[in-house]
Amino acid sequence: MTSKPENIHPIFDRTLKRVDKQKMLNQNSVVIWLTGLSGSGKSTIAIELEKRLHERGVLTQLLDGDNVRAGINNNLGFKAEDRLENIRRIAEVSKLFVQCGVVTINSFVSPTNDVRELAKTIIGEKDYFEVYIKASVEACEKRDVKGLYAKARRGELPNFTGISAPFDVPLNPSCIIDTELSSIEVSVEHLLNKILPIIKEKNGKI
Ligand code: ADP
Repeated sequence: MTSKPENIHPIFDRTLKRVDKQKMLNQNSVVIWLTGLSGSGKSTIAIELEKRLHERGVLTQLLDGDNVRAGINNNLGFKAEDRLENIRRIAEVSKLFVQCGVVTINSFVSPTNDVRELAKTIIGEKDYFEVYIKASVEACEKRDVKGLYAKARRGELPNFTGISAPFDVPLNPSCIIDTELSSIEVSVEHLLNKILPIIKEKNGKI
């Protein structure tokens, strides 16, 4: 049963602050939100980016589509309302990490402007760094890393993004990485160069 609002007493004002945790970790936290078609390269880039940040002493947490769907969101499917709830929970979890000073790397198709807008609203605009991992449906289908495009073409996967469900090109991403044009190495380097100044920026509080 859902608790009544009058019975909920948040303790935010009595807990340690994000700035205290960032100071301890010597880093600024941010949510790096990778969006793109299945097979565009999100997980590959997220994994490499996390390694590279770890080498530089940055504490990170990677949240990836399939991992999250196997755990906290294992009761959700792919219809529009489930996709929205999937993203809402992920955004709330990301917000907890960011409040803890942790750099959070999110790898989710997050196909529509609506779902990305929801994520940005929950996380907060200043903590949300959107990266469009760009690759055409044709390129992703050719890679077909998980065999999902073949299944979708056979009609075995309803609501498959790019085939039978829409993907809105992000309107105003902080960074665009075209994985048809750049190697994995170059893609990660490019993103790292954008993100490191944010994480290591001296903001007077660190
Ligand atoms: P997604 O997580 O978006 O579904 P994956 O990372 O699982 O995609 O798969 C992307 C595939 O594309 C991998 O096989 C990867 O080796 C390949 N690929 C080719 N070029 C790039 C690049 N520049 N960045 C990331 N992946 C790339």
